[in-house]
Amino acid sequence: MRVTFLGTGAAGGVPLYGCHCPACARGLADPAHVRRPCSALIEHENTRVLIDAGLMDLHERFPPGSLSAIVLTHFHADHVQGLFHLRWGKGERIAVYAPPDAEGCADLYKHPGLLAFQRLAKFEAQRIGTLSFTPLPLVHSKPTFGCAIASDGGTRFAYLTDTAGLPAATQEFLQAWHADGMALDCSPPPQATAPRGPNDWTMALAAIGQVRPQRAWLTHIGHDVDAWLMAHPQGLPAGVEVASDGSSVTLSPRAERHQG
Ligand SMILES: [Zn+2]
Ligand SMILES: [Zn+2]
Repeated sequence: MRVTFLGTGAAGGVPLYGCHCPACARGLADPAHVRRPCSALIEHENTRVLIDAGLMDLHERFPPGSLSAIVLTHFHADHVQGLFHLRWGKGERIAVYAPPDAEGCADLYKHPGLLAFQRLAKFEAQRIGTLSFTPLPLVHSKPTFGCAIASDGGTRFAYLTDTAGLPAATQEFLQAWHADGMALDCSPPPQATAPRGPNDWTMALAAIGQVRPQRAWLTHIGHDVDAWLMAHPQGLPAGVEVASDGSSVTLSPRAERHQG
């Protein structure tokens, strides 16, 4: 299973408009440090699934027929705004799986155009080509699902944005599931008190420690996380990486699961 982090930014991205912090200055000077809306492409054999649609150039990146489906974590603008352009296209409809959210975002439900919205249900696996997506409830200000993604080859990858810690049922599912890889959001750097909003650095690392995936990536990164990491280059524990836009990883199933 191949995972490509297409975008790894928190809402506002890096560089943040008008910000002069070291991370935003670096992002302005070097495109390698730009963070666009948080999203990922999951590929296995001929199946290609886009998770979240916040990038504004989806119509250029994914010509007609190149995606098996889109899976949305939730309907905040930075995760769906690319759909507003895509929907007026021509050709085959595109399946868009989404959590049950009666509001959606703006008039997407009213005028779906090319988009064929389908509702996900928590813990009910949805088959897409050679992949299965099990929606995992997260803690956010809108109904939000992470995904436990399994390939027919036996690889398991959990993609979890946006959340403030993990609900008990989701944590239990993941602890029993033994992910080969896991991506989790981390918007602000370590806060003095646990934030009510999305994961800060401390909460994100605590959740990874509870789930114990083989490898972990932080994504949905705020500019102040980047600035904090520039000041604390030793801040990352072993086995945890910070994803960057365009980076790809090929995951294989862990050996012990085959034996057991
Ligand atoms: Zn900044
Ligand atoms: Zn977000």
